[in-house]
Parts: sequence; C-alpha cells; structure tokens
Amino acid sequence: MARTGFVAGNWKMHGNLVQNQELLDAIVLGIPSLQNASCAVCVPYPYLAQAQSVLKGTHVAWGGQDVSQYHQGAYTGEVSAGMLADFGCCYVIVGHSERRTLYGEDNQVVAEKFRSAQEQSLIPILCVGETLAQREANDTEQVIAMQLDAVIGLVGADAIKHSVIAYEPVWAIGTGKTATPQQAQDVHAFVRSRIAAHNSEIAADVQIVYGGSVKANNAPELFAMPDIDGGLIGGASLVAAEFISICFAAQS
Ligand code: PEP
Repeated sequence: MARTGFVAGNWKMHGNLVQNQELLDAIVLGIPSLQNASCAVCVPYPYLAQAQSVLKGTHVAWGGQDVSQYHQGAYTGEVSAGMLADFGCCYVIVGHSERRTLYGEDNQVVAEKFRSAQEQSLIPILCVGETLAQREANDTEQVIAMQLDAVIGLVGADAIKHSVIAYEPVWAIGTGKTATPQQAQDVHAFVRSRIAAHNSEIAADVQIVYGGSVKANNAPELFAMPDIDGGLIGGASLVAAEFISICFAAQS
C-alpha cells in the first residue's frame, strides 16, 4: 500500500479567538482538497471547540497537543483522551520534546499517553528525537530506539499501525536549523527498520513525518525523501500561506 502524505500543525501556546478564526478560515479556504495527503491542526485545549466548529466537514482535521495517561480522576489540570474525543479530535501529539524537557515526561509516561489516546480511537502523533549533545555523541539511533521501544513494549508493534511517528531532532525545533534531507531520511529509515524488526508490513505503511523548522521553502526537498511522509510544523503552522504550501508539498 502506498503511503499518503500527512502534515500537522502544532500551534503550541499561541493564538486567541480572533486570530484563530482568521487562521482557520484561511486554511480551510486554501485547502479545498489534497491529493493523496491529509492535514490537521493541533490547537490549545480551550480552542478545540472553535477548531471543531470551523473545521467540521472540511479537509482539515484537528487534535490536541498532549493528553493525560489517565482516563479520569483527581488530576488537576489534565485532559483525558475521552475529552479530546468529545471535541471531535482525530489526532493528539504525544511525547513532544517540549513536554519531555520542560515537564519531565519520560519514555514510560509517553508510552502510557500513546495507549490512552488509542483507547479512545485517537491517532497519536508520537514524537521522537535526539538532542544536539546526543547527536554529537553518536547516540541518535540509541535514543530513538529507546523512545520507540518503550511504546512498542507497552502497546505492542501492531498498535503502531494506528499512529503517526514524528521524527523531531530537538536541535531543529524552533531554532531555524533544519536537518538536511539526508540526515532526516537516515533517521526515518532507521525508525522504519526498527518497526520492521517486529512487523515489516506495518513498518512499510506507517506515516513517518519530520519536524524541525520546516517552512514552505524547505518542505518539498524534505518530503521528497523516500521515508519522509510529511511534517509536524510549529512556527510555520501559524502563518496560513506557509502552512497551506507545506500541506500541498506533502501531496503525491
Ligand atoms: C514543533 O513544534 O514540533 C516544531 C517542529 O516546531 P518548529 O516547526 O517551529 O521547529
């Protein structure tokens, strides 16, 4: 089965009702359809209802940027996968490097969040990636293997089928430094091979997207690499024209 492209915007903690409306309206207008590709925006929790109301029935899906590993209970400030599903989310980002670094999420917690998302039929966008120090120490593959193995160990390799993997080198996120297409391709191929060790069909089918300072001008060369199926986009997802061009670059 040929893989289709996928682009997700990660708005992080940006936006307000007025700006979001403008951005969402422009994205909907700019993406009447996509050929062999799909796209989504992952918005801050308070704006899920707004995203749902603007995007329902369009070609743009929506999702959350994080999810609790718990179903319900005394977890002040947390949001469950069921709550995201209530607002029509298709996707949720898990294990973004900002969550791992700033909020101490380790591989086990990320794996539990992945499982929670899937239990509510959400598609987790699982972020993996190395820091600059890890890359310079030649530890990239080892770090990514551990991030992936924690998830596979908890939910099994079959669960990877209903997910998207995002390779996001930490040194490239929000820095303006992008991995070269070949650097990204090498890691994407490694991720695919790691999954193939469990199930080659799932490895061939799963969408693996790249994140880290992707813009309209570098998306085409990144997405042209054989194992790069699209992108997870931070800064550029807040600019309608940029995001729209990146989505079109994921078409095949
Ligand atoms: C991200 O937030 O996942 C990301 C890749 O950000 P940026 O595109 O701004 O580097």
